[in-house]
Amino acid sequence: MQLKTILNRVQKFKSFVYGNIFWLQSGENLELVIEVAARANSNPICSGCDRAGSVYDRLATRLFEFVPLWNIAVFLAYAMRRVNCKRCGVTVETVPWAEGKHTLTKTYMHFLAKWAKKLSWKETAGAFRTSWEKVFHSVQWAVEWGLAHRDLSNVTSIGVDEVLWHRGHKYLTVVYQIDSECKRLLWVGKDRTIKTLLRFFRMFGTQRSAHLLFICSDMWKPYLKVIARKAGHAIHVLDRFHIAMHMNKAIDKVRAEETRELKAKGLDPVLTHSRWCLLKRPENLTLKQEVKLGDLLRCNLKAIRSYLLKEDFQFFWEYVSPHWAGVFLDRWCKRTMLSKIEPMKKVARLLRSHRELLLNWFRARGTISSGVMEGFNNRLKLTTRKSYGFRTFRATEIALYHTLGALPEPEWTHKFC
Ligand SMILES: [Zn+2]
Repeated sequence: MQLKTILNRVQKFKSFVYGNIFWLQSGENLELVIEVAARANSNPICSGCDRAGSVYDRLATRLFEFVPLWNIAVFLAYAMRRVNCKRCGVTVETVPWAEGKHTLTKTYMHFLAKWAKKLSWKETAGAFRTSWEKVFHSVQWAVEWGLAHRDLSNVTSIGVDEVLWHRGHKYLTVVYQIDSECKRLLWVGKDRTIKTLLRFFRMFGTQRSAHLLFICSDMWKPYLKVIARKAGHAIHVLDRFHIAMHMNKAIDKVRAEETRELKAKGLDPVLTHSRWCLLKRPENLTLKQEVKLGDLLRCNLKAIRSYLLKEDFQFFWEYVSPHWAGVFLDRWCKRTMLSKIEPMKKVARLLRSHRELLLNWFRARGTISSGVMEGFNNRLKLTTRKSYGFRTFRATEIALYHTLGALPEPEWTHKFC
């Protein structure tokens, strides 16, 4: 069988034919070059308006990298024609295997992008003997195609969140779709300001925003403001996972302060090594931590009382009716305000001032799951962590859309990977 037969089977281009195939010595490596020619009677297509025109002239032969064969680099060689277009003047023709100034064929970019979902970009480059930049451009191309072709008409629930980025010095704002039948990353933006989230709504459009039913977020003020302004009709839900985070932060603070006080007074620092006993849910404790917790509960310490308040608050989520959940919330806040533990009082004040949004959780029950956001954030951290090359926002953004965006892919007659 000839190589041409295989090529015609896996990658046939209308109006073009495969010609000679020869070896090319490139440094120490042997490469395969496949000549491509336009069919004699075919007219070139203008890259400006996608319409056929007459041939103006021919440019020097260009090489387009194709999917390697038996680990041998493969190139398509073609001399691009220039088109004499009635509308655009003289333009370069458009060819089906490549786009714009890319030196990689679309098929090869798709191939690399596909592998870059399974391996890191560096590993992908290493496995196919190409460069990190080429993998990056391939993923970027796949993401741009996916973003241009994705369907946003079914979005009714979104989750907005902030994540630390760039070794914890900067923030990203992420917006997920959290509908039960479709979960994906919709948007990434730099910073966590009012402007940032406004940019999402601009991209999303007023018509789609009008169809939003539920929005889940944490209590970050700029987000609350933008959501109220741009999608005030949707039910805004405060996320359970973020409330737990506020609670844990408060307990951590109480514990640290109290440990210091005990030490200063020369008392037994019972709280040392107790951090995880107090932050973990009781069912997740190890046996040793459980014993420690038992000891701690016998002392009348602020940290312990905070812990009990936090555990008590878990009952809040068990309610079905927003009304009774509200009654519970008010009682809990009252008790906490009387506790004289400042960091916990701060949490109570926070919850009180967002009472309605908290109770929305019960109104939205069953339709959205905020656990999805936590899961997404974990996957997001994994993506940014393993990506040594992502120093720029652009690369990070591309990588996140690629791994979390559930983007559509072009249809290919032959599956290369
Ligand atoms: Zn044209």
